[in-house]
Amino acid sequence: MLNEHDQDVLPRCPRLGHELTFGYCRQEAGRKPCRLILDCWWEQFDVRAFLQANLPAETMTQVEGASASPPPSKMLSLVEMIQQAKERLASANPDSEDPPKQAP
Ligand code: SF4
Repeated sequence: MLNEHDQDVLPRCPRLGHELTFGYCRQEAGRKPCRLILDCWWEQFDVRAFLQANLPAETMTQVEGASASPPPSKMLSLVEMIQQAKERLASANPDSEDPPKQAP
């Protein structure tokens, strides 16, 4: 079952610097796994076999490719994280095209 390990906890994400659940890592990249998921979770359980058993072959190929390629620049990572946050806000507020305004 795809959400079998979603409540498993990693003490420290190397990108965000705090505790995260596997459920977050599994959908970090806009419903796709984080590019570092194989590197971060291999000590907790057989994450590669688990993902191979539960993800479509195309998604698994992307995970394997992302893990093998060099990391993107910090600027590109930041742009990707901003875009993902916008997508999450848009899916949470489908009627709004703009993110919620913050008080000054
Ligand atoms: S898989 Fe990605 S989001 Fe999850 S702990 Fe590793 S770097 Fe952080």
